[in-house]
Amino acid sequence: MIRIDRVLANNPGPFTGPGTNTWLLDDGLGELVIIDPGPIDDRHLEAIEQAVGDRSVVAILVTHTHEDHAPMANPLARDLGVPALGHAPGPEFDPDLRLEDGGHVAVGAASIEVIHTPGHSEDHLCFRVEDVLFTGDHIMGGSSVMVEAMGPYLDSLEKIRGTGLRRLHPGHGDQMEDPDLVIDWYLAHRLQRHEQIFEAIKAGANTPEAIVETVYNDVGRPLQALALRSVQAHLVLLTEQGRIASDHGDVAIASPKAR
Ligand SMILES: [Zn+2]
Repeated sequence: MIRIDRVLANNPGPFTGPGTNTWLLDDGLGELVIIDPGPIDDRHLEAIEQAVGDRSVVAILVTHTHEDHAPMANPLARDLGVPALGHAPGPEFDPDLRLEDGGHVAVGAASIEVIHTPGHSEDHLCFRVEDVLFTGDHIMGGSSVMVEAMGPYLDSLEKIRGTGLRRLHPGHGDQMEDPDLVIDWYLAHRLQRHEQIFEAIKAGANTPEAIVETVYNDVGRPLQALALRSVQAHLVLLTEQGRIASDHGDVAIASPKAR
């Protein structure tokens, strides 16, 4: 029986909720991997080491290279003499081994499946063991995700839907039961935002900033900066869908092409 422990990093904030979850996944026999060791932080490092105890760490896994997830991976891997694994190098992370979609990582008696889930970031991975999925920032407990690329993000939600999952362990917030219900909510929320943004453009909002003011008027300033990036991702998708046209950063409803 696998065993899962959480160590919460000391980095709460508007983008990270209660902080980054560092997950310890044990095969049930004392071999384990550490998923997303988080930012460089002595107190957090101590807490991780305490949670590991005398068990044997075989690898460090990274869901994606954002600064709240990956920076401690290389130094911790070096300390422990184990490899750090991720999809691609990032600003503060350089994987010893690169993980690809469909790959597997052995942890003693357990096996972790690697699922490439681009959208929140291009390099994003989810990790599956049995019917549990470690979702990183692809799905977050209790808050909506900043999306860099909307088309790939929606595809990455569909990719993990209906695959027999029973629990999600996110990079932020609490674990979640009923994964397919959660995924459906995320899909519905994104498609609702997509239409709200299209309606805002129809009503005259013609820049990403103006759209944020209209559609995200209920969120605070720091989150509006994040929302701006998601709006840009929605605009790319609306353009790909032929529903809007953009000209030097200004957007408008697409008109049928004149000949
Ligand atoms: Zn994060």
